Amino acid sequence: MDKRDDFLPFSRPDVGEDEIARVVKVLRSGWLTAGPETASFEGEFAKFCGAPHAVAVSSGTAGMHLLLLALGIGAGDEIITPSMTFASTVNQISLLGAVPVFVDCDYGTLNMDSGALEARITSRTKAVIPVHFAGVPCDLDPIRKVARQRGLAVIEDAAHAVGTEYRGAPVGSGGNPAVFSFHPIKNITLGEGGMVTVSDDALDHKLRLLRFHGIERDAWKRYGKGGTPDYDVAAPGYKYNLTDIQAALGRGQLARVGAMNRRRRVLAERYLSSLASVPGLDLPEVPPYPFVHSWHLFIVKVNKGPRDRFISGLKERNIGCGVHFPPCHLLSYVREKFGKRQGKLPETERAGSRVVSLPLFPGMKDEDVDYVAAAAREVLGSAAEPGG
Ligand SMILES: *Cc1c(COP(=O)(O)O)cnc(C)c1O
Repeated sequence: MDKRDDFLPFSRPDVGEDEIARVVKVLRSGWLTAGPETASFEGEFAKFCGAPHAVAVSSGTAGMHLLLLALGIGAGDEIITPSMTFASTVNQISLLGAVPVFVDCDYGTLNMDSGALEARITSRTKAVIPVHFAGVPCDLDPIRKVARQRGLAVIEDAAHAVGTEYRGAPVGSGGNPAVFSFHPIKNITLGEGGMVTVSDDALDHKLRLLRFHGIERDAWKRYGKGGTPDYDVAAPGYKYNLTDIQAALGRGQLARVGAMNRRRRVLAERYLSSLASVPGLDLPEVPPYPFVHSWHLFIVKVNKGPRDRFISGLKERNIGCGVHFPPCHLLSYVREKFGKRQGKLPETERAGSRVVSLPLFPGMKDEDVDYVAAAAREVLGSAAEPGG
């Protein structure tokens, strides 16, 4: 195959002229931080998910931090989460003095093994944080059932799941809180940003206070015509609000997410058929229950030869890749701090040493998929040669 001249990144944000115009309008408006655009974005996002409330925050990580605080998670509490996730969740648990307790994943979908949840519960367990991995929903029904029986909170990590549906219901509509991320590689992006969907009115109120200094009313209402500039702080809070500049971009992105996710699906299906005959790769699998996939990531597992060689082979052919994720229980501080308390996670370790995220973003061309598939075939073909 002929090497392409330009580099194909594994992800690239899709920002349209409409979104640029929306952002410019805010820049000219005289109000830049959280205000009317953020309030509208929250309302539109809540409607999109079928959630009663949506609280905009500065990142998914900030949203997770606020939720753990609002649920009263602290020293010695145990939180069950898959090890196959991004480190941010485990970091937040650890920073609060709580203990991450890991469950294994399913090798095919990379979602948490919901059947393994119950065995990990102790008298100290407070919550479970499942992840909708790569955009395919995890099996929420059994997780919610066990959580209800054992009195645990469920927090969905929905960072990959804007547009994902589980058994006909959009992620975020299920009653328990869900945390979304708008980091530049995610299905919609605001540069940075996050959203927490909640159904409980008191939790919604608590999150809004914790998000902004513990101040009761929105600043834009205080400073506006008819507002009074005084305020009180009943309990201290953080500074995790979103800006109206970001929210304007978010509103434009949300209006296009259906089309962007459809394009992701077309590309993913093209990968599935063109990679089916490539030896040495395990392709992403889907669950048996009804779902809508957001196709946040297209993750293959390299089962022939070292993964590093596959990644460098693609790089030599001008293709970028990602690794989602190095298992959390193998991260050095997690091993040092919590290692002795963890059981074996064979499927997570098997997948963790093999996962590679191939380029997938709405602006990709069909020919880009064909090029990556041909490159994967060539790289893995040479991996089979004796001494090669
Ligand atoms: C991106 C991501 C997060 C964190 O989101 P940020 O907005 O970057 O803070 C959390 N969990 C998972 C699984 C993610 O992929």
